[in-house]
Amino acid sequence: MTLGIVAALHEEIADLLAEMAPGAHVEHIGMRDYHVGKLHGHDCVIVLARIGKVAAAATTAALIHRFDVREIVFTGVAGGLAHGLSVGDVVIADTLTQHDMDASPLFPRFEIPLLGRAAFDAEASLRDALAQAAREWLADEMAAQVSAALRTELRMSAPRVHVGQIASGDRFVSSAHEVTLLRGTLPQALAVEMEGAAVAQVCHEYGIPFAVMRTLSDAADDTAHVDFPRFLREVASHYSHGILRRFLCARSAPSN
Ligand code: SAH
Repeated sequence: MTLGIVAALHEEIADLLAEMAPGAHVEHIGMRDYHVGKLHGHDCVIVLARIGKVAAAATTAALIHRFDVREIVFTGVAGGLAHGLSVGDVVIADTLTQHDMDASPLFPRFEIPLLGRAAFDAEASLRDALAQAAREWLADEMAAQVSAALRTELRMSAPRVHVGQIASGDRFVSSAHEVTLLRGTLPQALAVEMEGAAVAQVCHEYGIPFAVMRTLSDAADDTAHVDFPRFLREVASHYSHGILRRFLCARSAPSN
């Protein structure tokens, strides 16, 4: 059973690619490199989708059609929306909505036209396994990967794992005003990003179980752009690699 691992930014998968077992190969389709091979004993295809809903949807469809993946996990960063969340926290989706979908008045706001739904649920066992891996990694390994000085600087005092709604749209949210609007229209949303709900829609349409994990890189406000590349390099890359490694190692070995 092959697992697809998808990210929007190179830093989020670089260490996983380096860990693939010898014998992995690359297939280049539609301007993307699909890395096919074994990762911690599991058949995986790892791919950089690049940023945005279209990129994520196209990549997800190729994973399903061309590589016959049976599960998909998306890993990346996001802006925190809900009160009480902090940079360095992890948000695992239980449901995802496209916050920029609005075909009203023909269809209710957020509903995907002709699909009859506005929210897509992550698969429960993948979601829970990711949340467990994230909790364990934060407790056992995070402090060794992210320096104390950097944690102080970013005010990452005690990072936590949250499970809830993620909002996705083709927009980097970077103002307090936009945060207020999103909180008003999607009051349950914990985090905002640009791919998850697109992966979710395609997986829903093909009946493929999926989950989405996001490290909070910013608060989606006027400071959201500050040191984004550094956060990716020095924090998010470690989260993504460490949590997915734990997630894979905790899965029972494949029985083929
Ligand atoms: N400003 C960045 C652009 C990256 S786009 C740069 O200079 O490189 C942001 C990426 O991180 C997307 O893949 C998106 O899913 C996620 N993301 C992180 N914070 C976000 C936010 N506040 N709003 C939307 N997407 C965000």
